[in-house]
Amino acid sequence: MKSLLTLTLALALLSSLLAASATDKPAEKDKGHDHGAPAAKPSEDKKADAPAKPYPLKTCIVSDNDLDSMGEQDSFVYEGQTIKVCCKACIAKFEKNPAKYLKKLEGK
Ligand SMILES: [Zn+2]
Ligand SMILES: [Zn+2]
Repeated sequence: MKSLLTLTLALALLSSLLAASATDKPAEKDKGHDHGAPAAKPSEDKKADAPAKPYPLKTCIVSDNDLDSMGEQDSFVYEGQTIKVCCKACIAKFEKNPAKYLKKLEGK
């Protein structure tokens, strides 16, 4: 019966090898590990970047001159409202009392 014993041993050895090879698999320790995945992209939609309201007048908000009358008309955005003036001096006047000039835009 020596051959049967040898076969049994061989099978036992083989199965133990198979089991060992199965358990000896390196653990997938890095699987699912967070390797500094890029942070969520910051949103680039900023409410502050909403387009400014268009300037409703054809004249300087300060002097009521035609915007082209001084040949140096300028525009800027004040609190979300586009403002146009005929010259730099009018910007300075506007900035001294914006509320006064903004009234000209009410209801426009
Ligand atoms: Zn002006
Ligand atoms: Zn001016």
